[in-house]
Amino acid sequence: MRRPLVLANWKMNGSLASNKQLLEALLGQLECQTEVGVCPPSVYLSQVHNIIQGSSVALGSQDISKADAGAYTGEVSASMLNEFDCRFAIIGHSERRQHHAETDADVAAKFLAAQSQGIKPVVCIGESLEQRESGVALEVISTQLNTVINVVGLSAFVDAVIAYEPVWAIGTGKTATPEQAQDVHRHIRSLLGEVGDKVQVLYGGSVKSSNATELFSQPDIDGALVGGASLDASEFTAICVAADC
Ligand code: PEP
Repeated sequence: MRRPLVLANWKMNGSLASNKQLLEALLGQLECQTEVGVCPPSVYLSQVHNIIQGSSVALGSQDISKADAGAYTGEVSASMLNEFDCRFAIIGHSERRQHHAETDADVAAKFLAAQSQGIKPVVCIGESLEQRESGVALEVISTQLNTVINVVGLSAFVDAVIAYEPVWAIGTGKTATPEQAQDVHRHIRSLLGEVGDKVQVLYGGSVKSSNATELFSQPDIDGALVGGASLDASEFTAICVAADC
């Protein structure tokens, strides 16, 4: 049985004051069995780490460096994230693929870097609108995931998470229908072969409290990676609770 997991991707949002307010509201209302994590901008990892300490909420990063240390200006290494008890690292988010030219090969290298410090990589994959409309969504997903599998091996995915995030649904208010998402999630699990049943596969793309229950009722959807709606404590709590049913 896979435990439901809901991760908040705050993206480049927040401030010392608003983070504190959001986390205090969240910790005050969150009561469910769902595994929950928060991924703030890296400059706030220390603050969030201090506030959530002793709670059931885990810390995650929005990215991770491929390198261990050295001349990589602006990057944050796995061992640095480990010092703040980061349990998750989002890798290959479509915004990083788009704005920072992150490739599937980079994702594979970041996967290994994360696991070298006991951090679970959250591998984001997903097709563009053009790719979906031309009927190649499953091929795109296969290429993205197989490139990583070929480098890290299938068994490494037992300690990883996959987030299916159709690019056309991220921050657009458009959500894949539960059936569209389920089709891709089933395909992802089949690509994972013998470990497929053990891996948490999340859906991401305009998840809100109003569509979460329907998405989570699909057999291969184990939770969500939530962007915009994670900045509202009540919305995010409702999504976490929906995952627990
Ligand atoms: C995301 O950033 O991973 C995401 C899914 O964003 P949103 O929920 O805002 O679509």
